[in-house]
Amino acid sequence: MTIFKKSFTQQESIPEEGIEAAIAVMRSGRLHRYNTLPGEKSEVDLLELEFAEYLGVPYCLACSSGGYALHIAMRAAGLQAGEKVLCNAFTLAPVPGAIHNSGGVPVLVDVAEDYCIDLDDLEAKAAESGAKYFMLSHMRGHVADMDRIMAICERYNIFLIEDCAHTMGASWNGVKSGTFGDVACFSAQTYKHMNSGEGGFLTTRHPDIMAKAVMHSGSYMLFDRHFASPSKDVFDEIRYETPNYSGRMDNLRAAILRPQLAKLDEKCASWNRRYTVIENILAECSVIRIPTRPDAEVFVGSSIQFSIPSFSAAKIAQVIRDCEERGVVLKWFGNAEPTDYTSRYDSWRYIENMPNLPKTRAILATLLDIRIPLTFSESDCELISHIIVDVVKGSE
Ligand SMILES: *Cc1c(COP(=O)(O)O)cnc(C)c1O
Repeated sequence: MTIFKKSFTQQESIPEEGIEAAIAVMRSGRLHRYNTLPGEKSEVDLLELEFAEYLGVPYCLACSSGGYALHIAMRAAGLQAGEKVLCNAFTLAPVPGAIHNSGGVPVLVDVAEDYCIDLDDLEAKAAESGAKYFMLSHMRGHVADMDRIMAICERYNIFLIEDCAHTMGASWNGVKSGTFGDVACFSAQTYKHMNSGEGGFLTTRHPDIMAKAVMHSGSYMLFDRHFASPSKDVFDEIRYETPNYSGRMDNLRAAILRPQLAKLDEKCASWNRRYTVIENILAECSVIRIPTRPDAEVFVGSSIQFSIPSFSAAKIAQVIRDCEERGVVLKWFGNAEPTDYTSRYDSWRYIENMPNLPKTRAILATLLDIRIPLTFSESDCELISHIIVDVVKGSE
């Protein structure tokens, strides 16, 4: 019996240039983003400019985490206590958490068979809830039909915040994920597409939203020391009216992120090669279902999802145990008990009037997920896939 021995949580090391740059920051002692010499741009300033350029947007704010970016995005958008916010039922805990943190009430939208948000349910809930905000998670690197989403947002006059924690580097019809909505938020937490331990970005095209986000992030009255940011006059009123929710990024993190950004597209291609290896082998197993992705979607395969629709919950649990015995770690989004990083929507019990979402529960019940760290080679991915097929066939 072959056993896979590598860790599913081991990331690549930080590029040497990033380590060098981080050491230079430490030698300088100037770790705080505003602690610059006259005329100097800090590592955070440079990172913001580079990320804005990468995405093709005018404004970018680096901050302490992706969840924090989501929180201040809602605040900057003007969300008032008790207002409704549409969001995916299939997402991770920081998303409803960010909505709650900004005083909003999540309105959970079903997942569809392609593992993206269910657009019919979105349309129905946009109409019936009257929500003016939508926090869209592009889950597990996949991008839903953005043409239809934008049409729905326009029809109901909805403010769209894209949660791109899993789609840094992805696009829809050649348009980058994170450039559709009013605001986009990204994460640089270790298990996302760039790794600074903790970290996040907020991007937008709206000067007033950006000015508020900068103030919220803890700029004090140093807002004019931002470069991927609107001109000083935009802050005239905003600087008095916007509370400081302190959540800045520091120069040490920015220093290790900059060389990673330069390599992002290359990394995404490496993920997708590994994704394809796994997809092709799993597809040979008749009970395993992997949705075919539309041509418009350039996803990032930093993880891969598949379903075994004919299996009961007990059988899925057995597959997970058997795979684990052979060194293959599967995540199960349908687990009623929140485990590890994964929690099903109904475990977020602080949400008032928790809806019953039978469609979402049915899809999640047999939905499994493999994390694909780049420390795995393509032959590692082959081995993992063969083990999974073996286990699944053995439990049929
Ligand atoms: C990780 C994650 C976030 C938040 O990122 P942090 O930087 O960990 O706060 C938001 N949304 C999704 C879907 C995530 O997986």
